[in-house]
Amino acid sequence: MDNAEREEFRKQIEEEIQAQKHLIEGLKETSKPVAPDNAIGRLTRMEAINSKSVSEASLNSARLRLTKLERALGKIDSPEFGICVRCDEPIPRGRILLLPESVVCVTCASR
Ligand SMILES: [Zn+2]
Repeated sequence: MDNAEREEFRKQIEEEIQAQKHLIEGLKETSKPVAPDNAIGRLTRMEAINSKSVSEASLNSARLRLTKLERALGKIDSPEFGICVRCDEPIPRGRILLLPESVVCVTCASR
């Protein structure tokens, strides 16, 4: 991997981190606790609870992804970056750009 490529990945990861942070902020709003005496009515409350649990699930996965992205950014300068942890083959550029937090190649990921 050359420096230009590394810089491209760094930029991509930084953008993804910003996007995840933004997403998390938005999800925090929708996953706020639903008041038990919600005056809007029972059905609406059920809907609110459903959408709250969906938001919480998305929030958890967004947080997990953020952690992975930050970890990827932290080791971008190390020689292991972009190398599959299972088979030691380079991870294709397109996959890193799409999923910068991936530590395994497509073949190993589908195994
Ligand atoms: Zn592999």
